Amino acid sequence: MEREEFHLLIPGPTPVPPRLLRAQSRPMINHRGPTFAGLLRRCLEGLQYAFQTRNEVILLTASGTGGLEAALVNTLSPGDRVLAVTIGAFGERFADIAEAYGAEVVRLAYEWGKAARPEDVRERLAHPGGRPFKAVLLTHNETSTGVTNDVRSLAQVAREFEALVLVDAISGLVAIELPTDAWDLDVVVAGSQKAFMIPPGLSFVSVGPRGWAAYGQARMPRFYWDFEKARRSQERGENPFTPAVSLMYALEEALEMIRQETLEGCQARHRRLAGAVRAGLRALGCEILAEPGFESNSVTAFRPPEGISPDRLRAYVLERFRVVLADGQGPLKGKIARFGHLGYVGEEEILLGLQALERGLRALGAKVSSQGMMEAVEEALAREEGSHE
Ligand SMILES: *Cc1c(COP(=O)(O)O)cnc(C)c1O
Repeated sequence: MEREEFHLLIPGPTPVPPRLLRAQSRPMINHRGPTFAGLLRRCLEGLQYAFQTRNEVILLTASGTGGLEAALVNTLSPGDRVLAVTIGAFGERFADIAEAYGAEVVRLAYEWGKAARPEDVRERLAHPGGRPFKAVLLTHNETSTGVTNDVRSLAQVAREFEALVLVDAISGLVAIELPTDAWDLDVVVAGSQKAFMIPPGLSFVSVGPRGWAAYGQARMPRFYWDFEKARRSQERGENPFTPAVSLMYALEEALEMIRQETLEGCQARHRRLAGAVRAGLRALGCEILAEPGFESNSVTAFRPPEGISPDRLRAYVLERFRVVLADGQGPLKGKIARFGHLGYVGEEEILLGLQALERGLRALGAKVSSQGMMEAVEEALAREEGSHE
């Protein structure tokens, strides 16, 4: 039997709920007309809820990386000193973009799998070894390693030194706590194809008062990404260019789903499923890459038991069960596999993924117990149930 769909357990793009797919297929409208203005207004209001902010949220037609680029070029000038705190591939990318636009980037890089330490950031900011740092680049959730940073504490340290805080929250926002205003974050970037459950193509950027103040001085070249141009258009119920209207139909619907579940409920679901994935993987003899205490609730990076190739394991579950897991990135390519559990996922997807892995590990020669794995998963699920109800 021919089947179109896969069981997508990668950290983006994530599965799109049927309700969103239907919304996306609506007829096209005039992006300079009143119907669009209503759609945009509802999207922007919903985004403020998702970001937990009163700040203007800029809606960009771009993948997440476009949002990162926008965050940088609207707040910095060539030659500005920037501290890039990097714990994996996406932290490196954020730093690379800043460098491409002429910032003087100093990296505070950690071994992949580790989280950033506020005391290291303080130490670096206190002894800049040159001009003071204008901004600190942070990754909320490092998708390449499955590590979530303590953004609240890291941002607090940056504030002590009056550095602007720019946060890549592309794979974290909505799934993992990140209250923009309560944590006083200047610029926060999210993307459509992760916890927002929408196909790739939109990026969202919250810009706070200090972000706008920085905009006034920022001299990096920009045109498509210009925040002020976007803000003025959004005020009129428009976008400066032709936006991805179909994706916005899906966004409106997604934001409605998130509101119905509530942000707290959504984050509790991610926490519970992530706990179950980690328990199940450990019971299968896999090693979780993330340092304890900083494990991501949206993606788990893991090493299979000794002697088993992650690539062969992924190939097995893909061919046999249409279960799609992600490879490692950069230095971890071929060394780990990544299990995405964010967005439109529930217990059934998690169980399917774990059972496929159990079968794959067995086929590749590991000694694994299906019963032991299921018991560990059930126990983890029950534990989180108890703690949230
Ligand atoms: C997915 C992701 C990005 C990049 O987004 P694209 O949509 O691929 O441009 C950036 N940062 C993090 C943390 C991500 O997970």
